[in-house]
Amino acid sequence: MNPPVAAVVALGSNLDDPEAQVRRAFAELAALPDTWVAARSALYRTDPVGYADQPPFVNACAKLETRLAPRELLDALLGIERRHGRSRGVPNGPRTLDLDLVLYGGATLDEPGLTVPHPRAHERAFVLAPLVDAWPEAVIPGKGAAKALLGKVGTEGIERIEAGPGWRGNDGA
Ligand code: ADP
Ligand code: MG
Repeated sequence: MNPPVAAVVALGSNLDDPEAQVRRAFAELAALPDTWVAARSALYRTDPVGYADQPPFVNACAKLETRLAPRELLDALLGIERRHGRSRGVPNGPRTLDLDLVLYGGATLDEPGLTVPHPRAHERAFVLAPLVDAWPEAVIPGKGAAKALLGKVGTEGIERIEAGPGWRGNDGA
């Protein structure tokens, strides 16, 4: 069996009660086989990026410990998206639930349909702010410490909508 790997999933929603979509997705991540939620960020309300004429997003991050291989994990994430009624329309457009695999251990993967680290994570405050919340020491391979990257992009348009940090298990630090 594969040893457990720390993987980060970014969650986002701006349709059909986004907060509820994200909360439900956390529970579904926790229910994945051979996978544990080690930490989660607070929820954030964020301005849409790239396509402005749509509702604000709710974003969050989960730090998982998983024995699933990267492709198995991605397929499981796409399965959860489908259960939330996700359809793919305009790029960066409105969505009931988006689950992106941001990090998979220190791995760098570039395969059809699977790029890790997620190619835009390092420049997106709506990914970095919750990532630092869930895992302050996170490093994006080839890009650097998430905290430093967040310092560079800033937090304009990003508002925490839960008091306090998220929840961290024993190894969340
Ligand atoms: P985006 O998240 O960039 O707005 P989508 O959610 O529509 O776009 O994803 C489109 C495709 O991106 C997915 O079908 C998936 O195969 C591919 N993809 C590649 N790398 C990743 C990754 N690290 N996490 C999630 N999806 C990825
Ligand atoms: Mg996606």
